[in-house]
Amino acid sequence: MFDLEKLIRPNIKGLKPYQSARDEFSGLAEVSLDANENPFGFGLNRYPDANLTDLKKEFAAFRNVDSNRLIFGNGSDELIDLLIRAFCEPGQDRILIFPPTFGMYEVCGNINNVEVQKQNLNEDFQIDIESVKPKLNDSNLKLIFVCSPNNPTGNSIHRETILEITKNFDGIVVVDEAYSDFTDSSLVSEQIPNLIVIQTFSKAIGLAGIRLGVGIGNTEVIDVLNKVKPPYNVNALTQQKAIEALKRPDEIKKQVSILVEERKRMSQTLPTIEGIRRVYSSDTNFLLVEFDDAQEVYNTLAENGIVVRDRSKQVANTLRITVGTPEENDRLLSVLREENYSTSGRTGECLRSTSETQILVKINLDDPSNSHSNTGIPFFDHMLDQIARHGAIGLNIQTKGDLQIDPHHSIEDTALALGTAFDNALGERKGIERYGFLLPMDDSLTQVAIDFGGRPWLEWEADFKATHVGDMPTEMVSHFFKSFSDTARCNLNIKAEGDNDHHKIESIFKAFARALKMAVRKDESGVLPSTKGVL
Ligand SMILES: *Cc1c(COP(=O)(O)O)cnc(C)c1O
Repeated sequence: MFDLEKLIRPNIKGLKPYQSARDEFSGLAEVSLDANENPFGFGLNRYPDANLTDLKKEFAAFRNVDSNRLIFGNGSDELIDLLIRAFCEPGQDRILIFPPTFGMYEVCGNINNVEVQKQNLNEDFQIDIESVKPKLNDSNLKLIFVCSPNNPTGNSIHRETILEITKNFDGIVVVDEAYSDFTDSSLVSEQIPNLIVIQTFSKAIGLAGIRLGVGIGNTEVIDVLNKVKPPYNVNALTQQKAIEALKRPDEIKKQVSILVEERKRMSQTLPTIEGIRRVYSSDTNFLLVEFDDAQEVYNTLAENGIVVRDRSKQVANTLRITVGTPEENDRLLSVLREENYSTSGRTGECLRSTSETQILVKINLDDPSNSHSNTGIPFFDHMLDQIARHGAIGLNIQTKGDLQIDPHHSIEDTALALGTAFDNALGERKGIERYGFLLPMDDSLTQVAIDFGGRPWLEWEADFKATHVGDMPTEMVSHFFKSFSDTARCNLNIKAEGDNDHHKIESIFKAFARALKMAVRKDESGVLPSTKGVL
């Protein structure tokens, strides 16, 4: 029989939850002279609502549960710790976990000097109920942590198994549903006295930064946790942000459904890549992927600026890969593919490193599928994206520059590196159209003529009223093209007129991209487009 009185640590049993003066006061507080707050402050001078009345109400509606069944923590990590502190006598009691699983249960057990008993999941990453049953009669076993869907394996634990454990156990079963929004199954509506479900705002709700977790369970159990919880563990900003998000359930659903779609796409695409042995099925927003050599893939991804979680210690040769935006996932795929297949097409690369900037530019004139620019200057990135998109060129640019001084070096050196990469990609310049030009665009009229004839030259006819557009100085625009023409060894003739500087600059980059696209196009003949015989 589940008997809560027997389960609570004796020293906790007699405690009363912390009461603030505001809890004791029943009138209408017009003047608050009770908590030694500064009456001036910076807009957050008052203690937050310790009872979380609004947040509870909002969450209760969001999940369709009774607000008495809720307790909030500074992340669900805090709730794991509270549970152990409320129910496990240090040096005496035990918790049971099912590895490979989330690390915090063991960490919190260790911190509290509570023995962590382990039973590994079986080869399907399920709990073997028959081997658990004999352990359930242990009177020092107070808490069982079941992570479902499980991190890092990604699968859900069978519902019947969890329910079976709750029936055969006199302690408390904690089900960690950090990822339940990414599948359709949850135990929150089960009213089982010794079941507590914990959820988090860090994953599906997209608020990892505010640190907020929630426990949902039997009111008596929640009351015990309230005795242990620090009174103001959820700060005012966190409460406010959480309430805002919960009022937008449709957006949360939309984001989750995009991630679920992407998860599906990634689980179908990844197995087609050489070097990938297995993609485990997932009910979460991550995929556990087994590689021939996880360490090597980890390093390759790291070199390309992509960080994933190495879980090889828990499941051999695996990386845990979070599902990102479609663009981020594409970037991951292209790095994984490039590692294993030789790239086709005319490619060029330039690594440029000075005391002012470190730049890596990779281009592919014939494959636009892999493009990403990151220079630290958002407007400039946007312009480089125009070159990639409208030039139908694969463009990967990573620039780390001395932006604390100004964007000058970063823009100039990126242009030089880009020009060099073009020069490399064009090789002997055999079989290209060589010339390109274009004239359109709204309030601005732009012409860009280009000739990859081997001689650098910039002819420039455009001026700007503003000193900056976004974070990019407008004087750097002509400078960019000058630097590019120097290293790409091309003639560039650019003219732009119009009123709006943003439009004008964007149209120059677009027209430049179109001109590039024409100029580098292969002309079938494979001959050098020059009567001189050399470009
Ligand atoms: C990410 C995660 C959490 C979240 O913890 P917070 O402290 O709320 O950020 C909890 N449990 C599991 C299994 C997780 O993967």
